[in-house]
Amino acid sequence: MRKASVGVFKLTSCSGCINELIYALVKHPELLKLIEVKYFTELQDVNELTELDVAVIEGSSIRGEHEEVLKKIRGLSKVLISMGTCATLGGVQSLRVGVDVNEVKKYVYPSPEYVDAYSDVKAVSELVQVDLSLRGCPVNGDALASIIKKIVVGGWPVEVYESLCAECKRAGIECVVVTKGIPCLGPIVSAGCGALCPSFGRGCYGCYGIKDKDIDVGKVFEMGEALEKLGLSKEDFHSLLKGYSMSLVKSLKT
Ligand code: SF4
Ligand code: SF4
Ligand code: SF4
Repeated sequence: MRKASVGVFKLTSCSGCINELIYALVKHPELLKLIEVKYFTELQDVNELTELDVAVIEGSSIRGEHEEVLKKIRGLSKVLISMGTCATLGGVQSLRVGVDVNEVKKYVYPSPEYVDAYSDVKAVSELVQVDLSLRGCPVNGDALASIIKKIVVGGWPVEVYESLCAECKRAGIECVVVTKGIPCLGPIVSAGCGALCPSFGRGCYGCYGIKDKDIDVGKVFEMGEALEKLGLSKEDFHSLLKGYSMSLVKSLKT
């Protein structure tokens, strides 16, 4: 069987998802027998931007150069996957959206004039067609490895659409809202992490992003009001929406 050509690319991000992918490749060495890595600067020194069966993108776009690179990768790839919450929804860098980028640069960099960034932060799907999106900050490496494996042998993953609460209940985890009065975004957040935070007695802060199919804006904000009664301020709730669901927040406004 011909090996599938794979490229892994990074835009603005922290490399946490790329690290999860590297751990997953170590844990699932059988995957390396099915793929030929053509581009992955965190893994190898020699890289080739060429036609790909699968392109995996980490991070969101913060400048025109990212948009050009993304369009080029899309043109070269049969399947394009957005990996993690930055690529899929914008990610934590979206917290600065709405503030003058030149002001932000002054706070962070000693020589801000050398930093090229526009005021917006764009998820990959805002710029090119995405075939598959995987959320999570970071992404679940095992899930990603299994998806890549399925695609390269000619299959396609089945998308399961449910809220974190469903996953939490199935795992038999005590609800932190009911038992401890801790704010938790579970009812409006996409499943996928195995209800990690509630399993440690913490509330979910929404790193998989809000559920977007048939999104009910009213319910999202009703949720914010309910969480306020449990001690999560309106400002913090809005910051969580911005930091982990920015591209959805933009679509709510239009
Ligand atoms: S989604 Fe989270 S872990 Fe992944 S690159 Fe973005 S900030 Fe890092
Ligand atoms: S702990 Fe959170 S995710 Fe789990 S059932 Fe309660 S609200 Fe839902
Ligand atoms: S419980 Fe929520 S915040 Fe915690 S890992 Fe899962 S989606 Fe992210």
